[in-house]
Amino acid sequence: MPELFNNKNKDKKFSLQKQQWTKYLSYSLACGLFYNNPESEISKSYQNTMHCTEVKQYDGENMRTSYCKNRWCTTCNRIRTAINIIRFGEQISQFGHPQFITLTRPTVSIEDLPEQIKKMEASWRQIYNYSKNKRKTPYKEGIRLIGIRKMECTLRPDEKYHYHFHLIVEGLNNAYWIRSEWLKRNPESDPKVQDIRTADIRSLMEVFKYQTKSFTDTEEEPDYIRLNKLFEVMRGKRTLALFGGLKVPPDIELEEFDLEVQKKEELQIRLGNHASTWVWHSKVDDWVEKETGELLINEEIPEAVKKKAGKNSKV
Ligand SMILES: [Zn+2]
Repeated sequence: MPELFNNKNKDKKFSLQKQQWTKYLSYSLACGLFYNNPESEISKSYQNTMHCTEVKQYDGENMRTSYCKNRWCTTCNRIRTAINIIRFGEQISQFGHPQFITLTRPTVSIEDLPEQIKKMEASWRQIYNYSKNKRKTPYKEGIRLIGIRKMECTLRPDEKYHYHFHLIVEGLNNAYWIRSEWLKRNPESDPKVQDIRTADIRSLMEVFKYQTKSFTDTEEEPDYIRLNKLFEVMRGKRTLALFGGLKVPPDIELEEFDLEVQKKEELQIRLGNHASTWVWHSKVDDWVEKETGELLINEEIPEAVKKKAGKNSKV
């Protein structure tokens, strides 16, 4: 756990060049979603993502910008993940035997996804309430559930969608009990996929990250039509929940967090003491100073980043 909080990690994440890459990825995905789904009920939100961190205002000390806060936005997700680790990480790191559990049901079509979500939420609620009933055997035998639950949905081949839970729960006995109760209530689920392992840094990241993988490894570019359908279904849905008495810490605004973690020395060296305004131009994939025309990063987007956006840079 402690390495999640070290400065090296933070520095890597919030350097100016990383901001350029995530802006590039986020802009590319938002354009794809917006232009391929003109009828989408959330097209306005895709537009907001196109404008996310578009303008950066430097006042001689701090760089200020505004964020779209949408769940598909690469830029916002990066910061949201860091915020979540700080907000929830400490309580989880107090666990003596943290277990990482994955709970699933068979994949479904987009039409059946809302029903699938309801079913899985109901299943979890039943299991949790059952565990708390003092007159029942599990409670008498010492089952006590405490932890965090993350709801996620990924695209699968054949137009299928895979809604699933990741949990970090204290204690191996509790984890085995959850798994067996899940299989009782969801007999269609493949027992092999209902996975339990000791939670480590990777599982913490898995739970705290907010990134929806926009395309599978076998695809060349994101399927914007299918992604739009998924985001429409997931709209307004909560994807992180605590249980068993963990406290929900106060939220931290992205803008506020950004001001705290940004490297003032780096900004000073790069931009000096006077104010400047930088506006993103997608033709140069960089922020351009309003008056001087200077580029903020002045580096090419690496091929590996372009590939991540699903763009064949050779065309
Ligand atoms: Zn954003």
